[in-house]
Amino acid sequence: MNLDPHVPSGPLAQKWDKHRFEMKLVNPANKRKFRILIVGTGLAGGSAAASLAELGYNVESFCFQDSSRRAHSIAAQGGINAAKNYQNDGDSIRRLFYDTIKGGDFRSREANVYRLAQVSVNIIDQCVAQGVPFAREYGGLLFNRSFGGAQVSRTFYCRGQTGQQLLLGAYQAMSRQVRAGRIKMHPRSEMLDVVVVDGRARGIIVRDLVTGQIQSYSGDAVVLATGGYSPVFFLSTNAKGCNVTAGYRAYKRGAAFANPCYTQIHPTCIPVTGDYQSKLTLMSESLRNDGRIWVPRDGGDHRPPQEIPEADRDYYLERKYPSFGNLAPRDIASRAAKEVCDEGRGVGEGGRGVYLDFKDAIARLGEHTIRERYSNLFDMYHHITSENPYKAPMRIYPAPHYTMGGLWVDYNLMSSIPGLFVVGEANFSDHGANRLGASALMQGLADGYFVLPYTLSNYLASTKQTPTPVEGEDFKRCEAEVREQLQRLLSIKGKRSAQSFHRQLGKLMWDQCGMARSEQSLKKALNEIPAIRDEFWHNVSVTGGEQGLNQELEYAGRVADFLEFAELLCHDALDRDESCGAHFRIEHQTPDGEAERNDEQYSYVSAWEYNGVGQAPTLHKEPLTFEEVHLSVRSYK
Ligand SMILES: Cc1cc2nc3c(=O)[nH]c(=O)nc-3n(C[C@H](O)[C@H](O)[C@H](O)COP(=O)(O)OP(=O)(O)OC[C@H]3O[C@@H](n4cnc5c(N)ncnc54)[C@H](O)[C@@H]3O)c2cc1C
Repeated sequence: MNLDPHVPSGPLAQKWDKHRFEMKLVNPANKRKFRILIVGTGLAGGSAAASLAELGYNVESFCFQDSSRRAHSIAAQGGINAAKNYQNDGDSIRRLFYDTIKGGDFRSREANVYRLAQVSVNIIDQCVAQGVPFAREYGGLLFNRSFGGAQVSRTFYCRGQTGQQLLLGAYQAMSRQVRAGRIKMHPRSEMLDVVVVDGRARGIIVRDLVTGQIQSYSGDAVVLATGGYSPVFFLSTNAKGCNVTAGYRAYKRGAAFANPCYTQIHPTCIPVTGDYQSKLTLMSESLRNDGRIWVPRDGGDHRPPQEIPEADRDYYLERKYPSFGNLAPRDIASRAAKEVCDEGRGVGEGGRGVYLDFKDAIARLGEHTIRERYSNLFDMYHHITSENPYKAPMRIYPAPHYTMGGLWVDYNLMSSIPGLFVVGEANFSDHGANRLGASALMQGLADGYFVLPYTLSNYLASTKQTPTPVEGEDFKRCEAEVREQLQRLLSIKGKRSAQSFHRQLGKLMWDQCGMARSEQSLKKALNEIPAIRDEFWHNVSVTGGEQGLNQELEYAGRVADFLEFAELLCHDALDRDESCGAHFRIEHQTPDGEAERNDEQYSYVSAWEYNGVGQAPTLHKEPLTFEEVHLSVRSYK
């Protein structure tokens, strides 16, 4: 397997410029001869489709929602980072680069992260030009707030709806190209396989979710922008539809899967309330700008929060991390919340919660200002819990939220299958072992608006390809395999729903491979997953038929992939016998409970190769070398 990251030579700050100059271009008249298949219409896929079509390529855009505007990116609340330094508070491209590398616990590729910080400034200009209504100061300048892991204010936001507004911007840009005839939209279409012809990605197999028809599409390159896989834990802050199918099926066709065990648990979510819950809700990290996190100082203190005096409260993040306080990065804030709850100081039902309190901010700034900054988040909290967060502190607890792992890509965002590009949350590229808040939107848009248009053009300009009609043997074989799996699922006619298996798998993953992992817990998970999978394939009940709308069938296919992928995730977590970022192996912690990295043995990207269902995958290592950053103990104290 070729894992050459293709990082350009030269000084870090000049690599991207140099690479852009050296890459081949496609003549404008030739661009319309190429067809690019883009799966996913979130911020990564939407921005990629709009930009590539604007360049003149023919783009076919696929998503499983009824409209590309409903991609999961719409849920992003808090904001998007950029090194604009509008606040004049000491920010710079280098500082954003360094914060991101450190935030990821020194497990990301230096050159990619530097490029991300560089193009971050272009994203804001692009989005402002599209009319994205970023928050502004009274005088009209763009305003910023802070997110975790940074001591500057560099987060641009649209109240609590940043993702939605950015997605509307991308959607407008796409719509222009739909009208111009350069983008063809395929909503309600689920990609179920990648077609590899002569070692290159040349097409996809798609199920029309309304008619049930299986269709093949052929193109000159395939782009996956299919998002993250947090629902492997069943309960997560992600949209219910988020899944691993596209990435996992590409993995089965030969694409390396990188760092699957790097899964982010977000510290500020509404706590779980019962066994039948199907979704968790995020309370944006932006709330930690003004909210203070605390628990009672002593276990067993069940007084209502308003009756607990200051002296009996423990503002544990401010105590443990005085320089970053409530804006400690997510992995650290999540573990700290777990720790105080494990000590019996958690609040709310079951003791799995901590307070996020706005009393001081309201006293200082007035309720009006807090309402102006966060009203939709406060309303959401109120609707879900029936508690008024202007009057009593919110109760929050960590929940699965984002996945840093994904398909391995080189500096050009190309996977280990030539012609298969991967952008946004679906790739592993920029966040190392922990993503900083407001950096996912930045990465998705950097990939789609500013990186892929260059690197994909370079691929097309330097690759000679012959047409691959969908009538060809490779497509037909792939189609037959897809049909066979659907029929297999329908033929079992067992007694348990796909959801019950998903819930069982998710609980196992959360308990054994969640916020804390150990050799013992991972071996237990690896032992139990095959048994759940085996029962699934003998006892799942999928009602309805192959034709027409059948959401049970769609869902069962996704659960089947989670049941294989979970094993890969645990293999990766077991192999990485160190703690880093969000991957916390309890065997490796400092005396005060911080993650203890092992740079000597684990300073590499784990890229896994598929060997068959139930077979241990093969590990390939891409060494991580740091030229400009000094590897140090990550401290926020
Ligand atoms: C509640 C919440 C709040 C967040 N807030 C922030 C924030 O404030 N700032 C920030 O930076 N990040 C935030 N994030 C993270 C961020 O929203 C995501 O990482 C990002 O939007 C992912 O974008 P994407 O384009 O990669 O994928 P997505 O937006 O998830 O889009 C995936 C697309 O792929 C399609 N798709 C997937 N599989 C298939 C298939 N098999 N066939 C066809 N189509 C398929 C889907 O239909 C969809 O169009 C938040 C996340 C959550 C859950």
